[in-house]
Amino acid sequence: MGTFDTAVIGGGPAGITAAMYLVRSGCSVVQFESLTLGGQVLTTDSLENYPGYPKGIKGWELADLFAAHLDGLEIERRTSAVLGIEGEAGKFVLQTSEGPVNARTVVIASGASHRPLGIEGEVRLRGRGVSYCAICDGNFFRGRPVAVVGGGNSALEEALYLSKIVSKLYLIHRRDEFRAAEIYQKRVREAGNIELVLSSVVDSLHGESDLEGITVKDVKTGALRDLAVDGLFVFVGMQPNTGFVPASMHLEKGFIVTDNEMRTSIPGIFAAGDVREKLCRQVVTAAGDGATAAQAAFVFLEQLNA
Ligand code: NAP
Repeated sequence: MGTFDTAVIGGGPAGITAAMYLVRSGCSVVQFESLTLGGQVLTTDSLENYPGYPKGIKGWELADLFAAHLDGLEIERRTSAVLGIEGEAGKFVLQTSEGPVNARTVVIASGASHRPLGIEGEVRLRGRGVSYCAICDGNFFRGRPVAVVGGGNSALEEALYLSKIVSKLYLIHRRDEFRAAEIYQKRVREAGNIELVLSSVVDSLHGESDLEGITVKDVKTGALRDLAVDGLFVFVGMQPNTGFVPASMHLEKGFIVTDNEMRTSIPGIFAAGDVREKLCRQVVTAAGDGATAAQAAFVFLEQLNA
């Protein structure tokens, strides 16, 4: 088994960009992506803030274009799961669900997943009324009442998407103020069928085999209120996909810490995109991270070979 110059872990905007840049620099690349290329872009309805598409672009369309950019490039694509990274710069061994893979450098672009609320019944009712993806599951709730929980860009964006499908939408947020972009807040207030349930948290879920309703609690007064909803969409932030990273890697709040050149605390391992500790998690910044990580990995490889 040969050794790749770089193993890119992830096939979202960061991983796709890193792989593309590395191959164009003449590096041999193996790329791991357990699902289809595109990452979270695939589960986004439309993007209005990706430069070059002033009228917006559907998530699946952009994901297709990203994937098409890799067509014809010599990238070894693997769908196996990366379970661990051992060794050191120049001779990393990735333990995967299909055996070990050797690489001189690694770019971790494994992204982040939706954080659960962590309340009783959430795991049992997942896929039975509780969802983390409006574009995937919204249609099941056509003409029915649902609730969305969260106050960030994801929650408001997904609430706006859902409001066009469902009969009534309760937007539950634990504070009085949203952290989402003003443009989404304005649209949410203007949507005819969105009721804001502020300073409130989801207290309990009802239903054994399917969600039959929820109880919310006003965090200021302690008052409880039952909401008769068939669906609950949870968007309370993201948790990084870092289960496989070496225990010695420097993380903050679970996210990988890098310098400006995407270098992690372990020489030869770089990180890019939503898995990284940073201020701005956008498709455009993920792609930018991927380009920087690729360039930094390329320079590192040159030094290794010198
Ligand atoms: P986020 O920005 O971290 O927001 C999470 C929201 O969930 C916050 O409003 C937070 O409340 C609330 N929350 C957290 N834990 C909670 C709990 N246990 N119970 C109830 N509420 C809870 O996460 P996100 O919206 O998923 O976005 C993640 C990143 O992707 C952000 O950087 C975001 O800007 C970016 N993003 C951008 C776009 C876009 O530009 N169009 C779209 C989607 C996502 P508090 O406000 O009180 O903390």
